[in-house]
Amino acid sequence: MQTIAAIATPPAEGGIAVIRISGDKAADIAANVFRPVNGRNISEMKGYTACYGEIHDGGKRLDDGVLLIYRAPHSYTGEDTAEISCHGGVYVARRVLSACFSAGAVPAQAGEFTKRALLNGKMSLTQAEAVADVISAQNEQFLLCSKSQQEGALYRRIKAVSEKLLTLVTLIQAWIDYPDEMEDEFDGNLEADRLRSVSDELTRLIESHGEGQLIKDGIPCAIVGRPNVGKSTLMNLLTGTERSIVTDIEGTTRDIVEETVSVGGVMLRLADCAGIRETNDVVESIGVERMIKKLGEAAVVLAVFDLSRPLADDDERLIKLLDGKRVVCIANKTDLEEKADVSALESRFGSVVRISAKDPDCLDTVAKAVAAVSGLGKLDPGAGFIANERQRLCAEQARDAVNEAFAALEGGMTLDAVSVMCETALDRLYELSGEQVSETVVDQVFRRFCVGK
Ligand code: GDP
Repeated sequence: MQTIAAIATPPAEGGIAVIRISGDKAADIAANVFRPVNGRNISEMKGYTACYGEIHDGGKRLDDGVLLIYRAPHSYTGEDTAEISCHGGVYVARRVLSACFSAGAVPAQAGEFTKRALLNGKMSLTQAEAVADVISAQNEQFLLCSKSQQEGALYRRIKAVSEKLLTLVTLIQAWIDYPDEMEDEFDGNLEADRLRSVSDELTRLIESHGEGQLIKDGIPCAIVGRPNVGKSTLMNLLTGTERSIVTDIEGTTRDIVEETVSVGGVMLRLADCAGIRETNDVVESIGVERMIKKLGEAAVVLAVFDLSRPLADDDERLIKLLDGKRVVCIANKTDLEEKADVSALESRFGSVVRISAKDPDCLDTVAKAVAAVSGLGKLDPGAGFIANERQRLCAEQARDAVNEAFAALEGGMTLDAVSVMCETALDRLYELSGEQVSETVVDQVFRRFCVGK
């Protein structure tokens, strides 16, 4: 395999830039472009050692920097690797890279370092996929989840299912081939139960895809309530900015203002909506229509009510619109005299979060309620989840095959037929984990990566 090289840091000015070289000739190529000031022989450098020196291209001195050597298999790729840190200029990094090419390296393809790590058995396909997710993580929760994926959380979960299925297939095969030698009678009900439990676990796995997406992109969340209850004040508090205009003239928030924020570790895509109110104002009625649409798209709704005023017909209208939604019911303006019937809200929503949106200390209370209602606050980042479409498709195909096997068993089809369906499911699971996967699929996975990773 050829020795590859690429700039591993972003193409922008920065403190340092790192040029990564991986393959059998990594140390030789480094020796060609890097001259340690202490005269050290690079080919004799041990793994995890570094030296300071000058970087040259032919006879030309380009820069000074640090060389770090890794020895196979104790490197990211599993191959000999050299990393040259030079000054973080775009041009100087490119020049150092081209010096590496002149010395015999070839340009690395997108994700090729990680692909080599996969091919050298340093990580599974799902772990490699998680590397891309760690890089793209925009919030704490998704980073934690992706990090445990990278450490093998999903792989272990798939492995547990595939081993269960493999045991089942082996047993069925034994009953087919050596019926007389089996100790127990074939128990169709028991095997059907086993298939059902595999199917259930696959369903949970498939559902984890939706949760993963919500963690990654944020939960679509609408802030609703009739005019002047304090929606914009709450939105501003959550976002820490003055994006929504707060006034005490009813109907000011005419449009939806959207913002992504992290509340209690859960990422929310917040929409502050026009107040719900019967209106003849054309501009505002468009806002109300949009609010109803937004409500349909929201996975969690922050429904705000004004404690200082009795509940009005518009509040009742809103309550009806919230049927079947995950709602955090917020009773705002605790600093004023209470005139609303909070018990009515309690009986409808179970619990009511009392706050004064003018008091920044309420943020913590709101955050906890949002985390609890969204269900994501309880999510175990270490549990492993389906992180992308490729994985979801494999898991769905595996579950379909298991369900077919279940139906075949229940329908009295031959054990051979059941076994074939279970094997199809196993193939899909091996594809999911990456244990049995075509080159085309691997290439597709790494197309998502940047060059240098
Ligand atoms: P929206 O129409 O629902 O977006 O309501 P706003 O956020 O614009 O607030 C309407 C009015 O209520 C403004 O004058 C706010 O300053 C005021 N307000 C919001 N929250 C509170 C609160 O907790 N206590 C008090 N006393 N006033 C509040």
